[in-house]
Amino acid sequence: MRKIIQTYKYLSDAIGDHEARIILKERAGLDWASILANPEQQIDADLILQDLTERLEGKPLSKIYGKKEFWGIEFNVNECVLDPRPDSETLIEVALNYYKDKKPPERILDLGTGSGCLLLTLLNEFPQAQGVGVDLCEDALAVAQSNAETLNLCHRVRFVQSEWAKNINEEYDLVISNPPYIASNVIPNLEKEVKNHDPILALDGGEDGLKAYHDIFSDLFRILKEDGIALFEIGFDQADDMLRLSKKYKIRLGDIYSDLAGNPRVVDMFKQ
Ligand code: GLN
Repeated sequence: MRKIIQTYKYLSDAIGDHEARIILKERAGLDWASILANPEQQIDADLILQDLTERLEGKPLSKIYGKKEFWGIEFNVNECVLDPRPDSETLIEVALNYYKDKKPPERILDLGTGSGCLLLTLLNEFPQAQGVGVDLCEDALAVAQSNAETLNLCHRVRFVQSEWAKNINEEYDLVISNPPYIASNVIPNLEKEVKNHDPILALDGGEDGLKAYHDIFSDLFRILKEDGIALFEIGFDQADDMLRLSKKYKIRLGDIYSDLAGNPRVVDMFKQ
């Protein structure tokens, strides 16, 4: 047994305040207010220290506890899905902003849905919309389905196994995707949290990082409504590539939006 405040200090020295608080919340059920209210209380620190060891070996807390927050919502995650990231919230912001003074989308398609975080967040924000989430990986689809259940969105969403839009035959108002966009030869240099715990399928964009965009853009005309909008997350150095690809596939590139760090992160595209 140890005093909670000592345990907290030990954790925060090793991994910082934010993650120390997450461990105490998840493992001991203690939020910050109750730690401050009773800092001298004794807790059994064995499991907490085991978690710390795993974390220090490079496993993200999201993958230790099976959950990650995105847009203020808690999503189930496991090693079969990309961890939802704050950068990807840019795509949600762009979508909400686009529809601010327009009729909201009725049909949303998410290509490479992973945990479903993007699609389910948008379905939450647009209560009239129906969504389809596509993934090649069956295990990822199971995670997305579990998130739809937790969020009570099952009646408005369907998950389909498909390589990008190959098995999709309808048109959508809003198409979104955060595809794998990292060049294969860069993957060994990524942080171990990413390269060892995010699925390679969700990271690897082929030789130049652009393979998924080619696959998706070649079908975009077929799956986007005449007045629809497509939003894609991109890598920080891929803005010029998007301009080139939009010309090749004759799609109109609208704007490039930056994330909180100021890096290009999202593009919007249109048929006309
Ligand atoms: N759409 C999911 C996300 O943004 C998964 C993306 C991916 O696996 N590349 O988190």
